[in-house]
Amino acid sequence: MTTIDRNREFAGKTVLVTGAGKGIGHATVHLLIERGARVIALSRSAADLDALKKETGCETIAVELADANAAREAARAARPVDLLVNNAGLAELQPFLETTVESFDLTMNVNLRAAMIVAQECAKSMIERGVGGSIVNVSSLSANVGFALHAAYCASKGGLDAMTRVMANELGPHGIRVNAVNPTVTMTPMGEKAWSDPAKAGPMLARIPLNRFVQPVEVARTIAYLLSDDSSMVNGVSLLVDGGFQAC
Ligand code: NAP
Repeated sequence: MTTIDRNREFAGKTVLVTGAGKGIGHATVHLLIERGARVIALSRSAADLDALKKETGCETIAVELADANAAREAARAARPVDLLVNNAGLAELQPFLETTVESFDLTMNVNLRAAMIVAQECAKSMIERGVGGSIVNVSSLSANVGFALHAAYCASKGGLDAMTRVMANELGPHGIRVNAVNPTVTMTPMGEKAWSDPAKAGPMLARIPLNRFVQPVEVARTIAYLLSDDSSMVNGVSLLVDGGFQAC
């Protein structure tokens, strides 16, 4: 029986992680480096990236992913990569009737369009090199559940799940697997912003059989599974990390 040395699981692999400055992306960079990867951390705030570089020795790219041309240039600068984590995302909470075009467009441009652009550039390079690869899109339980005040966000994550399936279909023949990971509320700056009110968090927690929210490292471990050869025949799935929310 082969024993996996977790410290060397990603040795020789270069991983691009977007939205790496905080939360799930930050935890993912730490975990992948612990497991032997070379990581290129892409995010918006240079100060976050400088701190992460000091902590882990990762390489960094600072870019505003809402800018399509800048997103493409940044992805090109990161190449060649073996593995990609499309994690950058934002949530602006507005009632449906008051959701603005500006907020809707920004949410789509960061959560969905940038994921497409970055994956296009990485996948083209994987195909040219004939190396295969694995891409993980960080989606959300919100792809399946219509949370109040989350119209643009839910739409962006539903779109991301749909795009994940198309990517799995078209890139699979090139040996590139594409999957989504779909957490429920996760204790990051974004999660705290949206769910810190106990009146809102209480009913949500009550619907989670494990009776707690997710820690960023728990999402990072699921991402690592989908990136790794442990999931070598998993392609096109949206993997819930929701403590059983959707089972009930
Ligand atoms: P977070 O704590 O807000 O961190 C998001 C990271 O993405 C930050 O480093 C942020 O940089 C970066 N980012 C955001 N917009 C960007 C842009 N336009 N260009 C470049 N970088 C940008 O969020 P998180 O909770 O870790 O969320 C990570 C992913 O998980 C997102 O896709 C989110 O939708 C998803 N998710 C989160 C939860 C949750 O409850 N937290 C649940 C399900 C899914 P700056 O801080 O510099 O802007």
